[in-house]
Amino acid sequence: MSDLSKRSLLQTSGLLTAGAVLGLASTVRAQSGLKTPFVVPGTYIPVVGSDEVFPVRRIYCIGRNYAAHAREMGSDPTREPPFFFQKPADAIQNVPIGTVADHAYPTLTKNYSYEAELVAALDKGGRNISIDKALEHVYAYSLGLDMTRRDLQDVMKAERKPWEIGKSFDHSAPIGPLHKVASTGHFTKGSIWLKVNGQTKQSANLNQMIWSVAEQISKLSEAFELFPGDIIYSGTPENVGPVVRGDLIEMHVDGLPNLSVKIV
Ligand code: MN
Repeated sequence: MSDLSKRSLLQTSGLLTAGAVLGLASTVRAQSGLKTPFVVPGTYIPVVGSDEVFPVRRIYCIGRNYAAHAREMGSDPTREPPFFFQKPADAIQNVPIGTVADHAYPTLTKNYSYEAELVAALDKGGRNISIDKALEHVYAYSLGLDMTRRDLQDVMKAERKPWEIGKSFDHSAPIGPLHKVASTGHFTKGSIWLKVNGQTKQSANLNQMIWSVAEQISKLSEAFELFPGDIIYSGTPENVGPVVRGDLIEMHVDGLPNLSVKIV
């Protein structure tokens, strides 16, 4: 082999090695020790009674999961299989217990809507998870708001375009700290409500979900491989509605401390 072809081979294998390392870096960047030109912060949710924080991988949200809400959104809940959308992990806004967090009214909307939801956080993943095994994948629960630029969502729906601008924008997922299943058990029934300025707007029972949390995990895992760090917003009851700057949102799920945000 000539010196030239030897050098060429070495360069090629060097590039392949570098490529493999870079490929690895995208999945284990934190542990890789590789230099990066800037730091991309992770998203974490505090865990009550623990010094650990929960690292968020993906946020899945189910749509139209309470019959009366499906009807108010203009669809027939009896004929519809579950459907899901995502918010980016960094849409999380952590809301500590016992505080009223400021939540910034977003740009571009004139109809900014609340959706009160139970949230399940997974510490185990998998594909094609059976309904009877699904809850074994849940590490903790919290309550959260699936904040929505309703006017933009409606325009995109009407134009048959993706919803991202209405659902998946910055800070669109306020959430309370996580409560481990070991301390709370699973949430299959119980009151869920939301008040604006002390007035009840949404009030329902978790047992009115069309698809239970277990069924959501099972269905999701048919479409996506689930991983530890995935969280699931489990849908909102009827009577969603708009807020304006100055409004105080308080939300409740039986067995969890309330979550409060002020729109600023
Ligand atoms: Mn929702």
